Amino acid sequence: MAEATRDIERLIEMMAKLPGLGPRSARRAVLHLIKKRALQMQPLAEQMAKVAATARECLNCGNIGTSDICAICESEARATGELCVVEDVADLWAMERASVFKGRYHVLGGTLSALDSVGPEELRIPKLLDRVASEGITEVILALNATVDGQTTAHYIADRLGPEVKVTSLAQGVPIGGELDYLDDGTIAAALKARRSY
Ligand SMILES: [Zn+2]
Repeated sequence: MAEATRDIERLIEMMAKLPGLGPRSARRAVLHLIKKRALQMQPLAEQMAKVAATARECLNCGNIGTSDICAICESEARATGELCVVEDVADLWAMERASVFKGRYHVLGGTLSALDSVGPEELRIPKLLDRVASEGITEVILALNATVDGQTTAHYIADRLGPEVKVTSLAQGVPIGGELDYLDDGTIAAALKARRSY
């Protein structure tokens, strides 16, 4: 019994390390799973093993899928000449959920950071430059986070790309459903700067 208890404790510790979970939610989740052993825990364990064995990064764009080249890179319909650069796979998936962008993506895998000594070689920047040259890219859309590192990275990439390709970035400003009174000064300033005619 002591052994089994240790196993459960160990599972809770592992779950607690997941993003968004702490020890408390991990305990609740594990307890829930144990109660629903057959219905939820067993299928979850099987699915986890399956994904652990098959998930991989797309060799072209860095998206996560189950083949060497992801479905977006495979699709001819997505060869629009537009390439959307994001920091992380989660950002790519967020863009896809909005289902407005019809081009392809490039996942950097982070941002340049002098503090954490992340240089261009640590990110997928060399691969990005290759792709722009070889995939007939006409516009690079920098959809990086509005953080200092995100914006530094955007400037660096825009510099490296040169004038042959159009470089744009996502607008910054008032979120949909947002109220001006709740926005910080930086957001209001960015929104005013990015204003457009009605
Ligand atoms: Zn891909």
